[in-house]
Amino acid sequence: MIRDARGSKAALPPNPETTMRAAVYRGGRELLIERIPIPTINPDEILLRVVRCGVCPTDLKKLGSDPPVSPRVFGHELAGVVAQTGTEVVDWQVGDRLVVLHHAPCGTCHYCRHGSSAQCPEYRKTGLTAGFEPAGGGFAEYVRVGAHVLNHASVRLSDPTSFDVAALIEPMSTVVKAISRLRIAADSVVIVIGQGPTGLMFTGLLSLQGVRVRTVEPNRGRRETSQTFGASEAFPSVDDLVSAAQRAGDAGSRGADAVVVTASSATAIAQACQLVRAGGQALLFGSTHPGSSVPIEPSMICAREIDIIGSYGTDVRLLDETASVLFASLRPWSRLISHVLPLESINYALELARNPESGALKVLVAP
Ligand SMILES: [Zn+2]
Ligand SMILES: [Zn+2]
Repeated sequence: MIRDARGSKAALPPNPETTMRAAVYRGGRELLIERIPIPTINPDEILLRVVRCGVCPTDLKKLGSDPPVSPRVFGHELAGVVAQTGTEVVDWQVGDRLVVLHHAPCGTCHYCRHGSSAQCPEYRKTGLTAGFEPAGGGFAEYVRVGAHVLNHASVRLSDPTSFDVAALIEPMSTVVKAISRLRIAADSVVIVIGQGPTGLMFTGLLSLQGVRVRTVEPNRGRRETSQTFGASEAFPSVDDLVSAAQRAGDAGSRGADAVVVTASSATAIAQACQLVRAGGQALLFGSTHPGSSVPIEPSMICAREIDIIGSYGTDVRLLDETASVLFASLRPWSRLISHVLPLESINYALELARNPESGALKVLVAP
């Protein structure tokens, strides 16, 4: 893991206690380190000092979006310490360590009552802000934590917990939710396409359930890492995987019980539909860009009974389970973190996260 110190804190005046450093998005592809007011909290809220915040692919998508959504302070994979509590807060004290999600569903609307909590209108509202329109705020020294997410989507951390690993709870909970949508058993075969941080989480979690995981990843370093996370076989391309399956005979050519696509790629989605067995599932993860399309053969769905499913966001009911799996350390989860960088290096952090050839996996910022 690389702990770097690019950039200089001396570029900004000393903190007069009412302002903080934040990486502010004001359009374009870069963030600006600015001093902005420390958020003021309502009586039922807390102020969180951010200790770690991971860079998420969705942060990268929002940069350069058209029209630009700015100003914003992004960052939602955060872990930190309570710095201040509102007068009505009784469950939290200054110094408590926690992870809190940026979204929480209402639990009572039609979507929530029918098992689609990620589609809840309340879930779409962000409950964390460092200022401006709520957008996570983890790329700042402090965030204001709204009462709704504090009460419904937070995890209390025990004292010796590593903040580095704790910052993985939010992204891993989205993978735990996605896996809960798969029909898998201990002898299932699952192909995971893409072995970035998300793909490696799928590989680690699925293999812990006894599933035989085959991975596809062109980047050699990531491919090798997938085997330390429990992949039984790792291939540089789908063609290599298909050749190996054909050599293996009937069972190999039947197809996988499920194929997970973690790359936002039309080609990978089409390949997944070819690789899955009749009656199996193709799970799309992270294909959140509207406007792209993939041709689908209806007979694949009607006659071959292949389910094409997706998963978005997390399910707050899976948070404690996620934290337990993570802290049980049955996979080398800390190896998912390749860099921990100061806030001043945020643009370098984003560049690393954009570029797999850099060798980066999960990049954390330490504001
Ligand atoms: Zn995210
Ligand atoms: Zn709801």
